[in-house]
Amino acid sequence: MYDLLLKGGTVVDPSTGLSGVQDIAVEQGKIARIEAQVAPQESRRVIELPPGSVVTPGLIDLHAHVFEGFTRLGVHPDQGGVYAGVTTIVDAGSAGSATFGGFPNYIIPQCHTEIIPFLHICQTGLSTIPDIIAEGSIDLDATLRAANRYKGLICGIKARMVSPALEIFGMEMPRLARRAAREIGIKLMVHIGDTEKRYDPTVIRRLLPMLESGDILTHYFTANPGGVLDGNGRLVPEAWEAARTGVWFDTAHGQGNFSFDIGRRIIDQGLLPHCISTDLTIPGRLRTVHSMTEMMTRFLGLGFSLQQVVTMCTANPAKAIGAEARLGSLIVGRQADISVLKIVEGEWTVYDVLGASLSVQQAVVPVLTIKRGELFRPEWGPRPWGWEPDPGPAHFRACC
Ligand SMILES: [Zn+2]
Repeated sequence: MYDLLLKGGTVVDPSTGLSGVQDIAVEQGKIARIEAQVAPQESRRVIELPPGSVVTPGLIDLHAHVFEGFTRLGVHPDQGGVYAGVTTIVDAGSAGSATFGGFPNYIIPQCHTEIIPFLHICQTGLSTIPDIIAEGSIDLDATLRAANRYKGLICGIKARMVSPALEIFGMEMPRLARRAAREIGIKLMVHIGDTEKRYDPTVIRRLLPMLESGDILTHYFTANPGGVLDGNGRLVPEAWEAARTGVWFDTAHGQGNFSFDIGRRIIDQGLLPHCISTDLTIPGRLRTVHSMTEMMTRFLGLGFSLQQVVTMCTANPAKAIGAEARLGSLIVGRQADISVLKIVEGEWTVYDVLGASLSVQQAVVPVLTIKRGELFRPEWGPRPWGWEPDPGPAHFRACC
């Protein structure tokens, strides 16, 4: 007898090639069966999905901020997680060595969403902004001790290529972060784009060669200094080299680092992003980024196929965090992390952080989330009308 049976959804899982209408049975937190027809009598609980429901592996947000209460920006993990169609959130360095204990002691035990944190090289993480304000902001020994103590929980070390950190440390800042990551044997995630717009934009050319296979570059579509395009709008050669090396490129929208114009130039040159995370924060959720499903909407609007979009928020982020044996695919025997989505047809406008608009005709909306076999219904959504983006074509809104 199964615990849960999802009936009648259209499965989209490019990682396994699974597609079309399939029933999925769940038992003891694991995927027990995937077949065109599973009899309802075989399950204690049966959910008949509305026709057209899209069933994907549980969505993974590779860059968000969920250190709620320890930073001003952190959302409750479930608000960006299971109540938003997302089963796993990678916290991109909200905590440093001085604050990291908050995750295992207070945040992780109190939520349903799986959290995989990066440890910020700044010892106070993002509890204050700017993060690094003096040489004392980095304590390498304390970082190594914390990373060792929480090894297995911490996915990697996070560094932010911003001012004033770069003015204080120069390239020594990412070097220290890389050293910590290598000594512990974990990943390095680097934020590019100087939101203060003060630092040398060519810093990217010195940064990229420091990254190794499996490291993550986040804010790939940033328009701030330090992005991947040169003064002529061409990708710097080091970006191609990093891609060949096996570095993951994540777009991480957030409040300040996502531009459709930059994104289109990158896409036109053919070096596509691997992951499309939110960089969700409290203000970002209300103002600019809204949700993981809206990131999917943006990338459908940019011309990516549904298969590509699903890959960029399931199998690819699972690989980027080294969890692809457990997360990111719908396979019998795997942890039952499943997202049920709806793709609504209509007219909407989405905006980047610079206010540039993009008209979209499809909007992705969360319907159900299954985390380790447990069922969650998404909340109302980040906007007064729910999950869909701003209604109507852009020109109707231009006046206001
Ligand atoms: Zn971030």
